[in-house]
Amino acid sequence: MGSVGAKEVPVLLSPEGLRIDGRHLDELRPIRIVAGALRQADGSAFVEWGANKVMAAVYGPREVHPRHLQQNNKAIVQCRYNMAAFSVDERKRPGLDRRSQEISKVISEAFESVIFAEEFPRTSIDIYIEVLQANAGTRCAGIVAASVALADAGIPMVDLLPAVAVGKVGGAIALDLKKEEDNFGEADMPMALVPQSGRLVLLQMEGHMTREELSKSLDLGVTGCRAIYEKMKQALRDRYAGGEAAA
Ligand code: UDP
Repeated sequence: MGSVGAKEVPVLLSPEGLRIDGRHLDELRPIRIVAGALRQADGSAFVEWGANKVMAAVYGPREVHPRHLQQNNKAIVQCRYNMAAFSVDERKRPGLDRRSQEISKVISEAFESVIFAEEFPRTSIDIYIEVLQANAGTRCAGIVAASVALADAGIPMVDLLPAVAVGKVGGAIALDLKKEEDNFGEADMPMALVPQSGRLVLLQMEGHMTREELSKSLDLGVTGCRAIYEKMKQALRDRYAGGEAAA
């Protein structure tokens, strides 16, 4: 253990190349996806991903509020990402802070690029993402949940949208960072992929990487997204093949 100020910096990578929770560098945290977790919404999904717990609800296509946002040639896609006050160790101030607004905006834009919005002119497709428990990677867990919720609502899309964060911890490129890795690592790069075309519709980065590390991170993230994609499709098959009723 080294120390920075009063905070202890954990050892992020063991000499054997294992991470703080024993994972390999290319290993995802366990993921569980339940499609259709809510009764009221048009579509919904609950995602447990490591210690993250995220609920997504989708409404629409429906009337646009506020009305002046209405577009004559397509639906608008409005996402609201919110972290519950009890979702983190230190109580978070409730409400939409700058971070939540930015995340809501980039997620709206990611979905705008995969939803066939022109099929529903003058309507709104509303996506609500509620983070109930957070442990890094919540925007990615939110995208995965929202994507399954959109499919559950029957919204036509080019493809599902798997997402994952890649980063640099202890000098190595690692898949799916957890909280300590996000806090004390050298870089964090969330991304969302359209699996069939290989197009990235969300890519953000904080921290520092070399060009080679960036390229390796993209490859690792794409592989991670493809694995998550399989779990998303399975969640939808479980819901519709089993015909299970919403809770
Ligand atoms: N976090 C927190 N309080 C906040 C915002 C974030 O404790 O107000 C934590 C939370 O665990 C979150 C992590 O920091 O998952 C990383 O946040 P980041 O902004 O990188 O977004 P995320 O990785 O969740 O998409």
